[in-house]
Amino acid sequence: RTLSATAMRTRTPYITSHERIEHPQNTKLFLDNQFLESKATTWMDLHDPATNNIVTRVPQSTTDELAAAVDSAARAFKSWRKTTLLTRQQIMFKFVQLLRRDWDRIAASITLEQGKTFADAKGDVLRGLQVAETACGVTTQLTGELLEVSTDMETRCYREPLGVVAAICPFNFPAMIPLWCLPPAIITGNTVVMKPSERDPGAALIIAELAKEAGLPDGVFNIVHGTAPTVDFLIEEPRIKAISFVGSDRAGKYIYTRGTANGKRVQANLGAKNHAIIMPDSNKSQALKAIVGAAFGAAGQRCMAVSVIVTVGVTKQWISELVELAKNLKVSGGFEPDADLGPVISPQSKARIESLIQSAADEGAEIVLDGRGYNVEKYANGNFVGPTIITGVKPGMRAYEEEIFGPVLSVASVDTLDEAIALVNANKYGNGVAIFTSSGSVASKFQKEIECGQVGINVPIPVPLPTFSFTGNKSSILGDLNFYGKAGMHFYTQMKTVTALWRSEDAVPEGFSVNMPTQK
Ligand code: NAD
Repeated sequence: RTLSATAMRTRTPYITSHERIEHPQNTKLFLDNQFLESKATTWMDLHDPATNNIVTRVPQSTTDELAAAVDSAARAFKSWRKTTLLTRQQIMFKFVQLLRRDWDRIAASITLEQGKTFADAKGDVLRGLQVAETACGVTTQLTGELLEVSTDMETRCYREPLGVVAAICPFNFPAMIPLWCLPPAIITGNTVVMKPSERDPGAALIIAELAKEAGLPDGVFNIVHGTAPTVDFLIEEPRIKAISFVGSDRAGKYIYTRGTANGKRVQANLGAKNHAIIMPDSNKSQALKAIVGAAFGAAGQRCMAVSVIVTVGVTKQWISELVELAKNLKVSGGFEPDADLGPVISPQSKARIESLIQSAADEGAEIVLDGRGYNVEKYANGNFVGPTIITGVKPGMRAYEEEIFGPVLSVASVDTLDEAIALVNANKYGNGVAIFTSSGSVASKFQKEIECGQVGINVPIPVPLPTFSFTGNKSSILGDLNFYGKAGMHFYTQMKTVTALWRSEDAVPEGFSVNMPTQK
């Protein structure tokens, strides 16, 4: 089976195995509803993380191509913003249907390019699809405000689109994060230039194809490719009014700082270090199973992965059972039906994760389950790291301070809930946190005192459904308006207030006033 140009553009066939692709095709640009071959001189090989075989080549879009994408989006904005909300809603209904129809196809592209298991990739798609489904309710979500402020006078508030907006996406959720951005941006009347991760752009391209099939007019959604040069172009381009970024701290701080300095609205979700606190009164089996899934699922490459557990008191003794559960996880190519976790994204990432594991040992922690040098017989060249558990981890250690972004769970142990809360609050990140307890009062105290944006109570990965927003906190976020939900709608719209006076001829007063109108 080969990834033919047809496979990129039609529903079948698509690849569902890690077999070598005989004739890898280049990844296309998506401009004005057309898939185009780039004229790039720089190309990046994209490898299947399970085998390191080449899947495709991704272009560094040329300056002309980047300018053409913005031209296209700017042109489209003029007419797209004039379409009625109901027209956009109908396209979104259709888009949602098509995402469901091609759910497996998008997921397969993710498994091939990103490495996560097919079942997990389906979750990646569904979490994005739910944002699109929620966007269908725009007709009630975008209602404004109105007040009769004076006799015959009313003030009305509208939310209007910004114009051309950009989305810069990370590798770890190739469908979900593009879909955090696209549906709320277009349903509110904006047009989009998206740069998916250069490491796995395939899912975004399928999404583009489906958006076109759903009836999205030319230029409303465009996809460009590349790394820093593409990002620099988007940051400097004055016609781009807002940037949605999800990714690492380094890139995010840069994009936020330069983007806002250039007058753009920027929302940036950054790195994380998510703790789960295990209280002695928790349901042991429930807590340990939840933690194994949350720590090792997606090979730990989720921004909401649990990467540290904090045992309180006696629960320190539960770690041996956790190790047994983790040992039983099946590590393999993501298309293998029994795989629990797949490879990490690249050999460089594997090397970085393994060096962080070693650093913990060097700094006095104990590796009680070591996933380094993990051998998956069928996929000898893959970037596999087995589940790893490190006890005795303390603040100050590299493995605690840095985001590992791999299947590595650090264990810190304290004696009281207060100490656990203090430990979490001292961490610079504030993306997600969880507590396992059977006590309502413990949960209540925790919820109030914890400085973290997304709190799980007996829920290990508390990512809110899109009725709400993704609410990271502290160093895990830059910008004021969160992704999706009400805040997402607000990010992609600017307010306009209209004050209107409709007075009958005979009620027009004589004379005039030069004083500040007070609308008494
Ligand atoms: P990354 O920062 O390497 O890449 C993200 C995007 O930024 C990509 O499109 C990439 O091309 C671009 N980029 C990378 N380096 C750049 C640079 N120097 N200048 C300009 N652009 C640059 O991130 P990643 O490795 O793809 O994703 C993993 C990171 O994303 C983790 O830190 C994870 O926690 C974070 N993440 C956060 C959330 C969240 O909601 N908080 C969600 C998912 C991922």
